[in-house]
Amino acid sequence: MSRGFNFSAGPAVLPEPVLRRAQAELLEWGGERASVMEVSHRGKAFIALAEKAEADLRALMGVPDDYAVLFLQGGATTHFALLPMNLAAAGQRADYLVTGAWSKKAASEAKPHAAVSVIADTAASTYTTLPAPGSYAIDPSAAYVHLVANETIHGVEFADAIDTGGVPLVADFSSSILSRPIDVSKYGVIYAGAQKNIGPSGLVVMVVRKDLLERAGQPRAKILSYKEHAAQGSMLNTPPTFSWYLAGLVFEWMLEQGGLATFEANNRRKAEALYTAIDGSGGFYRNPVALDARSLMNVPFMLKDAALDAAFLKESEAAGLLALKGHRDLGGMRASIYNALPYEAVAALVDFMGDFAKRHG
Ligand SMILES: *Cc1c(COP(=O)(O)O)cnc(C)c1O
Repeated sequence: MSRGFNFSAGPAVLPEPVLRRAQAELLEWGGERASVMEVSHRGKAFIALAEKAEADLRALMGVPDDYAVLFLQGGATTHFALLPMNLAAAGQRADYLVTGAWSKKAASEAKPHAAVSVIADTAASTYTTLPAPGSYAIDPSAAYVHLVANETIHGVEFADAIDTGGVPLVADFSSSILSRPIDVSKYGVIYAGAQKNIGPSGLVVMVVRKDLLERAGQPRAKILSYKEHAAQGSMLNTPPTFSWYLAGLVFEWMLEQGGLATFEANNRRKAEALYTAIDGSGGFYRNPVALDARSLMNVPFMLKDAALDAAFLKESEAAGLLALKGHRDLGGMRASIYNALPYEAVAALVDFMGDFAKRHG
């Protein structure tokens, strides 16, 4: 057996050079004579690691000085609830754009903590489109506007930030962070679970404009307060040290590769190859998403005959193309083509799809 090309939606593929380095230094990390998992998060060596990870992330994303970078826990889902607790006063309105399963869940989890208003919902298109700018109205007194930058299940992605007229924009970038350069200054909060483009699950990276940390929010324990985390270097309690370490290795590797411009070029090349194969298959394969809303990271596709799904999955796995089964809500297939997935993986998938269609078409 050998490693396959991993199209998993998350936890997902990691860069092989990063895994090899982690393997090589697993037992003895730096001069510590112990594993990175076995040393104090308050020791000199780990603090240096944490500071370098933050500096590298800032360099990659171009994070301005008036933003804090937090390394948190609980997965993105926990922050669906913590964001309103920290940013909205009790009963204050918070506006949500619902463009797929994750933004729907974000709105639902916020409900106990804010007057959630769903100002746009693309359910009528079964989440294959984005709301047209101007088709929704943002309340100027809302605590914030929330959207999911890339819908991991439905394969719908915003090309850019939306205009909120000055209301802070809070964006879940779990499945598209670091996939291409973005203008951080257009956002109040950018947050992402690590397990798609950054590292192991459990870690959440958050970039937050510092003035938002000063909001009173709602009564909450210290451990649930972003302001307290920022004041304590994200070390109010023991952080997920191994995930943080691995994220740091990924950031370092990305900078060595040339940063986000390199990854954007790679990601566009991969996505174009795959969408071209789907659209050019004469209807054998189909991606339902509107052209201007298609994701660079997650590509759901259906076979013209769902009775062929089982054969497609069995044969693709035998060919070393892993985890292509679609989300249970959509059926069919989904290829997640994150940063760490090489172009060769997509080329192999495209070859396989062509061959499969020939044999079963
Ligand atoms: C995966 C994902 C989540 C959920 O992350 P957890 O770490 O499981 O909480 C939330 N939002 C988006 C966009 C995701 O892709």
